[in-house]
Amino acid sequence: MGMYDEISVPPETKCVKCGEPITGFQSKDGPCELKVLDYSEVDNFYTDCEACGHWNEYVRKRPKPKVPFEDFEIRPNTRTYDL
Ligand SMILES: [Zn+2]
Repeated sequence: MGMYDEISVPPETKCVKCGEPITGFQSKDGPCELKVLDYSEVDNFYTDCEACGHWNEYVRKRPKPKVPFEDFEIRPNTRTYDL
């Protein structure tokens, strides 16, 4: 049981206040299992700037587009049930 996931952002991401490169983004939008997710998978992510301490938080401007059901496929059933 984790508390957040790490978020991968473009390497050129810079602090909005001082312009220094920033890393170490986190989010609670995902499974919160300390996974590394792409920023496009979550609606919100944030980090502190190591240089100036500014809180850099990003929120999605537009809702995530709905993916068609055809983009999913059935997974072969590997479970067995006792009935
Ligand atoms: Zn900064």
